[in-house]
Amino acid sequence: MSCCLSITLSKSKMLSACMRQVVRRYHNCTGKRKYLSDMFYSPAKSKHKEEYSCKSHRLLLANDIIYPCHSGAYYLLPFGQRVLEKLTRVIDDELQAIGGQKISMPTLAPSKLWRKTERWNTPELFKLKDRAETDYCLGPTHEELITDYVRQLHPLSYKRLPLMLYQITRKFRDEMAPKYGLLRGREFEMKDMYTFDATEENARVTYEIVCNAYDKIFKRLNLPFVKVAGATGNIGGKLSHEYHLPADIGQDQLLICEKCDFGLNKELVGAGDDEFGKHCHLKEINGIEVGHAFLLGTKYSEVLDACFVDKDGNTQVTKMGCFGLGVTRIIQASVEVLSVDDNIRWPEVIAPYHVCIIPQKEGYMADKFFSMANDLYDKLDSLPNLHDEILLDDRTQLTVGKRIKKANEMGLPYIVVVGRKALEEIPLFEVIETSEKRTFFASAEQVIEHMKNIQTV
Ligand code: ATP
Ligand code: MG
Repeated sequence: MSCCLSITLSKSKMLSACMRQVVRRYHNCTGKRKYLSDMFYSPAKSKHKEEYSCKSHRLLLANDIIYPCHSGAYYLLPFGQRVLEKLTRVIDDELQAIGGQKISMPTLAPSKLWRKTERWNTPELFKLKDRAETDYCLGPTHEELITDYVRQLHPLSYKRLPLMLYQITRKFRDEMAPKYGLLRGREFEMKDMYTFDATEENARVTYEIVCNAYDKIFKRLNLPFVKVAGATGNIGGKLSHEYHLPADIGQDQLLICEKCDFGLNKELVGAGDDEFGKHCHLKEINGIEVGHAFLLGTKYSEVLDACFVDKDGNTQVTKMGCFGLGVTRIIQASVEVLSVDDNIRWPEVIAPYHVCIIPQKEGYMADKFFSMANDLYDKLDSLPNLHDEILLDDRTQLTVGKRIKKANEMGLPYIVVVGRKALEEIPLFEVIETSEKRTFFASAEQVIEHMKNIQTV
């Protein structure tokens, strides 16, 4: 008897789920609106066994931004992929504004070049052979390939310099200790720019220009970054700066002056350059390295023969710079430093969606609430800054409160609830600004007025 009853109950549950599906499809007949229930692709949480190692790692897993694959490698789920694409647009904007040209280089890099630069024995290289037994590595960085390309531009006139070429591609490093999710992966997205100049003086000017573009990128993201003098390490060269987001879990120790904007990586202390100690008030903090700039000089261009022809017709070696940004690392590091309590906070311009509309729970006048939510969706979506930035949480079987909590956890900056006050003579909607923790009621026109200035990329 009880068994029959539970079958009947579960049948009726299934039916109402089917009905919901039909109603939803009917309301979304063009299929263009983004309904939240269409977006959960993650297998049940219990399926992956990955232990999180820090707050941002936990938040990205819990909110279906990433899903673990194997050590140091992740699936980026739809929200994560959108954030990556938006961050890519911000980076493209700023680098193209200073004359950077985007390219894409092969991932497979021939050992021949890496032997020439004496980097073939780097422990992080993932190495493989083709069927003819030729050795390759999966590119962890691309100084060798880009320099070999520029070699082939010979005779390259000095008038063409500086050359500023960059790519945003997957990099591979067999890290000793992959850790903290996207912060230290074995494959990850990196932006790498390589610059070629005629003189060291010009290369230093280019270096400053790229560093300024980095400052702009981090300012647009509204991130609390610090720029410090860094070690040149395995990449080599003459001058280097690192960009860090200060965070307890950061794996670098930095010394930052409390009075001026001087700072350095602690690795540099004792390297013969500690004059600053006398003038600065240094405090030690941990940082997550999100970007790195190197003035390389001729370290690669000499060995790999990347030359230009000067105005007297003489052939000279180019002076190089290289500039990395850890794109996937920036995504998680931002979540690490901005999030509050159990809620993700994104740099607002790269939030996966900007507005989440939540119609009243199913029941009395449910259809009316749903169609008002769709109307508001269409109006907001037609604003140039908000096109494709709206999400509708159509899971009307859940309470409004539960859905607000979820949108807040996912870090969506604006929530609009279509609740009872939407039935008043002048319909009113509840607007929640999640990062400001501010709530107010507004008419459709006021909501639109308020949202037409939201900054998106
Ligand atoms: P780290 O000291 O953290 O290993 P790195 O000095 O090896 O960094 P670079 O070779 O300068 O890093 O690479 C450029 C940028 O790529 C770094 O500033 C960082 O933001 C990012 N990056 C480097 N290694 C990883 C990794 N394993 N996972 C994710 N991002 C990384
Ligand atoms: Mg490294």
